[in-house]
Amino acid sequence: MNPENLRPLHADQRANALISIVIPMYNETACLSSLFDQLVPVMEAIRHSYEIICVDDGSLDDTVNDLRCWQSRIPNLNIISLSRNFGKESALACGLDHARGDAVIPLDADLQDPPELIAQLVDKWREGYDMVVATRRNRPGDSKLKRNTASCFYKTMNRFSEVELPPHAGDFRLLDRKVVNALKDLPENTRFHKGLYAWVGFSTFFIEFERPARSGGTTSWGYWKLWNYALDGIFSFSTAPLRLWSYMGVATACAGFIYAAYILFRTLLLGIDVPGYASLLVLLLVTNGSILIGIGVVGEYVGRVFSEVKNRPHYIVNSIEPAAVESRVLDDKVVRSVSL
Ligand code: UDP
Ligand code: MG
Repeated sequence: MNPENLRPLHADQRANALISIVIPMYNETACLSSLFDQLVPVMEAIRHSYEIICVDDGSLDDTVNDLRCWQSRIPNLNIISLSRNFGKESALACGLDHARGDAVIPLDADLQDPPELIAQLVDKWREGYDMVVATRRNRPGDSKLKRNTASCFYKTMNRFSEVELPPHAGDFRLLDRKVVNALKDLPENTRFHKGLYAWVGFSTFFIEFERPARSGGTTSWGYWKLWNYALDGIFSFSTAPLRLWSYMGVATACAGFIYAAYILFRTLLLGIDVPGYASLLVLLLVTNGSILIGIGVVGEYVGRVFSEVKNRPHYIVNSIEPAAVESRVLDDKVVRSVSL
């Protein structure tokens, strides 16, 4: 890591800093006008220079064309289009890689991360915190099932993983340049950002907010996708499942030995007892089932090692349409992203 990256900005430097807003987008035409109607006045009011980076994650609707129309009205709007849908985590990684700000704020396009909180995030950053996290006090916009599964996920993660995830904190937070550079230095392909933010550390302040419902469109996170996301989190940040299966193996083996001793003594005391089909079958099923689940858990890790070893980029940039201002810097980044 370049030691320059670690040098903190002084409070007066933070006052003149550039703020980057990074917005991953997938099929968000329904949300764009309300998003920019709220975001731009907030950014104008905080009296910092700013850039907005919209990462189009292979949308199938008119998101990119609509963004181009907005670009003529918002001079510092940059559009990065990915070559296909890579998923929110990859789109966010792309935005963080291309953001130039001294502070970077990832934001959802659907106004579930209210832009009016940005001023508070920036204020706390100017007080000296390196990460200012907006946590959801409650989430009336989400179904009860989603709230319960989310809370179950955070409990499991915090019980077993090497990092402590603040419950109900998403990507909506302010990241100082130091934090962004630390994130960019992490080489892994499975980008589970919530875990990565916690892993890199730095001084953190939490503010709370009520998470509203989507402003338009529909969520692209079904339960199956959320389940896979949760598995990514657990398997990327914990080896507890592997350890659990070692304990299960020990427990099954102990039970097997006890049962074997019981059969042995019974046979010695009562003679040979031919019937035993049912107990044998039960034993076979239980042990084979446990072995298969154990192999499945090992497979999860092997699969992740496989995808890490291939070392493919997290995303491929199709085009970058820089803002009217500062286009040269983003052009430099086109060169960097092509040489990924
Ligand atoms: N998103 C994305 N790629 C995807 C799915 C979602 O860039 O494959 C973006 C989406 O446009 C939004 C943010 O990620 O800006 C959060 O997505 P969504 O609102 O669907 O998730 P939820 O808030 O329901 O968790
Ligand atoms: Mg949302």
